[in-house]
Amino acid sequence: MPLATASTGYSHLLREIDDLRAQRGVTGIALVLLQLDGVGEVNRSLGYTAGDEVLERVAGRLAAVGRVQDRIVALTRGVFALLVHNPLHAGHAALAAEKAIRVASESVDVTDGRARLRARAGVSFLPANATTASELLRQCEVAIREAGRRDKSHVAWSAALDGQATVASSAWFEIDDALHRGEFELHFQPKVNLRTGALSGAEALTRWRHPEHGLVSPLQFIPAIEGTDSARTLLRFVLNTSMRQAASWAQRWPGFTISVNASPTNLADADLGELIADVSRIWDFPVDRLVLEITETALMLDPDASTRRLHQLRSGGVKVSIDDFGTGYSSLAYLKNLPADELKIDKSFVQNIDHSEKDRRLVESIVQLGHAMGLVVVAEGIETEPMRAALVAMGCDTGQGYLFGRPVAAAAFDAFSPAG
Ligand code: C2E
Ligand code: CA
Ligand code: CA
Repeated sequence: MPLATASTGYSHLLREIDDLRAQRGVTGIALVLLQLDGVGEVNRSLGYTAGDEVLERVAGRLAAVGRVQDRIVALTRGVFALLVHNPLHAGHAALAAEKAIRVASESVDVTDGRARLRARAGVSFLPANATTASELLRQCEVAIREAGRRDKSHVAWSAALDGQATVASSAWFEIDDALHRGEFELHFQPKVNLRTGALSGAEALTRWRHPEHGLVSPLQFIPAIEGTDSARTLLRFVLNTSMRQAASWAQRWPGFTISVNASPTNLADADLGELIADVSRIWDFPVDRLVLEITETALMLDPDASTRRLHQLRSGGVKVSIDDFGTGYSSLAYLKNLPADELKIDKSFVQNIDHSEKDRRLVESIVQLGHAMGLVVVAEGIETEPMRAALVAMGCDTGQGYLFGRPVAAAAFDAFSPAG
């Protein structure tokens, strides 16, 4: 099967699909989108040359999958599209996906050792599901994300999946390219000691400076990279950038802590503790001033596994914060045993404390609950002075919100001086 490699893989693929469907005798197309994971690990253990070598070898093997008249397009590093034309039935595409996955995850001998990648695929059909090439590709992306979520090797798109799909303005591989092009930056939002008014640290929040759309919110792109290697690439970028910054801020503000958001994919990463230790050494910023914020919902996906992971991370010195607290469904039984240092009350509760007595009492009980469990309690989304005053009266430890400062670029954060 001919292997087409193009730097602009995305538009190239759309053209290939359009070409193919215009051909005489072509009545339908199945697209198998294949994503390889684990190149990052090969890079780290055997070096970047080995990483490239593995990808090349796997690409070569993939070119041999399928019938001669099918096509394979390399979209971006580690992402391939397999075009199966006139699939005999839906199972035919599933077989092609399985075969590609099998071939891609066989071990490869490279110059300095042996490596093995993981692969996942999303499948959809034109014209049965999609009427245009870009719609077909989008459906495969949704399916592949679902495969990641359900931990399946491949999933076929169905309309039901769209309801669950998050607003992702871009495909994950576009985001991955943007990450490598350096289009991501961090903004920092102050965290303030509510008793003294002094600055205690900052939360790092990611922004994508998109060439066309301007600053893109993390809510637009984080869901799209969940379950992929890019989630790890992003966290590595966030850790590096924020710990480098925090090391310099710690000289000005002693005891300065930096908070970083970690996703479920990050939490599941067995190498996370090691990554943090490495970055901490490079920038000479102590691990115990790094706070990993993990949402309550993420922790409750698999409470037992989370508990084990948090024990591991904390034994390395990292502080752990339960983010968006109150929006998940933790049972107190789990909460009691969850190894954490901080509880962060979600802004949806905080924002009503000055006009809803119920919310005020609720937040007050959360502060007490947190303290009873020995946790530092943080309130986010503090926008007004009455909100701050109410939280101080409740004994809440730390505050964050527009009242103290919006998330800003590092240079602007330098100018921060807490109101006191
Ligand atoms: P989050 O962790 O709950 O972060 C707080 C969000 O509330 C931020 O939105 C922040 O800009 C906003 N915010 C802060 N103070 C106020 C306030 O006083 N009022 C209101 N209305 N909003 C306030 P942002 O920056 O858009 O981030 C959204 C979410 O994206 C974050 O929610 C976090 O869950 C996620 N996120 C951000 N950066 C990363 C990252 O590097 N990795 C991962 N996995 N997730 C990230
Ligand atoms: Ca957070
Ligand atoms: Ca929140």
